[in-house]
Amino acid sequence: MKIYPAQIPREGVSLAEDFTPEKLDLNTEIIKFREPVWVKAEISKITNAVTFDLDIEASMCCLCSRCLEEFTLPLHKRLRFSYPVDRSVQVIDLDPDIREEIILEYPVKPLCRADCHGLCVKCGQNLNLGKCSCSN
Ligand SMILES: [Zn+2]
Ligand SMILES: [Zn+2]
Repeated sequence: MKIYPAQIPREGVSLAEDFTPEKLDLNTEIIKFREPVWVKAEISKITNAVTFDLDIEASMCCLCSRCLEEFTLPLHKRLRFSYPVDRSVQVIDLDPDIREEIILEYPVKPLCRADCHGLCVKCGQNLNLGKCSCSN
């Protein structure tokens, strides 16, 4: 999302955009996004700063740290950024900040559900799907 401060009207402006995960460079070795990220921005300008009120919605694919199954974590984040601007600032590129805010939401210890039973340490069976024969 690129914003040209000189083009922001006095009364502010509202923008919404779908980003492909590729455009925001979101996919890493661990973090996967398979659906577009939706971003809405309310933009306002005062003499020497531009303020963005952002709404971000995304579906993050996480690997459960217990059973190693992939699950989707819906993400909805509201935040505010202010950028100082003077005449030398032609354009503000929000993408790196949006990217960072989304990546920050990745859980330290993702769990597909609070009571995930994980894998059997002996045979590796996913215990959410049923007991294995080595229990007891
Ligand atoms: Zn799990
Ligand atoms: Zn087992």
